[in-house]
Amino acid sequence: MDEDMHGAVEALLDEVGTETEPRPEFDATNLRGQVAVVSGGSSGIGRAIALELAHCGCHVAFCFLDAGSQARLDAQEVARKLRELEVRVYFRHCDVRDSRDVKRFVEEVDRELGGVHILINNAGIGRDGALWRLEDHEWEAVVRTNLDGAFFFTRSVAPIMRAQEHGKIVNVTSVHGVRSEFGISNYASSKAGLIGFTRSAAVELGPRNVNVNAVAPGYIRTTRLTDGVPSEILDRAREQAVLGRLGDPQDVAGVVVFLCSESARHITGAVIPVDGGYLL
Ligand code: NDP
Repeated sequence: MDEDMHGAVEALLDEVGTETEPRPEFDATNLRGQVAVVSGGSSGIGRAIALELAHCGCHVAFCFLDAGSQARLDAQEVARKLRELEVRVYFRHCDVRDSRDVKRFVEEVDRELGGVHILINNAGIGRDGALWRLEDHEWEAVVRTNLDGAFFFTRSVAPIMRAQEHGKIVNVTSVHGVRSEFGISNYASSKAGLIGFTRSAAVELGPRNVNVNAVAPGYIRTTRLTDGVPSEILDRAREQAVLGRLGDPQDVAGVVVFLCSESARHITGAVIPVDGGYLL
């Protein structure tokens, strides 16, 4: 064996010898002390994710749109619940469509909470209507919130995560990014775009040990969903899910926390349906 080949074999043996053993069980203990950013953390799924991460010991920053006084009260209530879990909390209004404010928000979190290790791109809206009746502003509001917002946040945290060679990003897309229905061309396009973005970001950030994944919830029982969607549609959604029920925000939060944990260290670029079998 010549010297070059000998060196290469030694290096390979060293690498194999020092490889860490994968942990056999779901283990979220490594999350303690990490800083997580959740966009749209004041209600529904984002709220459940923020609380679940805090239960695992993460310090949590979240933003919300603040479309009215109720939204502000919701945000304050989430912050109060997070503090009860004895983690540090940072929250304020920040419109994910405003790239400069998103950058400022991330800088503030980095300074106030001491880093950014986890990003959950959760903020999202729908403005449904037949495509031939959709107004420009209804298209733009949805695509800018659901897709541009995730890009702005990911671009802002990328230098931090790349420098520390560690990070977890989870994008909240939807079953409707995979299978559409009538009247949601703006929403379906934004969520399908978010799936493409998840894969691209996984390719670009993976070499610096940053995992980027997505969850694709089916119909999830949030107050706004159950208040806003006609009961016939919810009944049909229940029938189409092979498990015969709608999901709860907690169902999504559990999968998100798993993706942020060391148990999921070898998963990246994946889109995990949390839909009771809706897409089958
Ligand atoms: P909610 O309406 O309950 O919560 C949305 C959150 O996003 C709120 O905190 C809201 O803030 C925030 N938000 C909205 N627009 C902006 C913005 N421009 N800038 C900052 N924050 C914003 O929604 P859900 O919990 O139901 O949905 C969360 C995510 O899950 C969304 O991406 C949605 O598309 C996705 N999803 C939901 C499903 C469901 O059945 N519920 C199914 C599949 C996917 P504020 O309260 O101030 O408005």
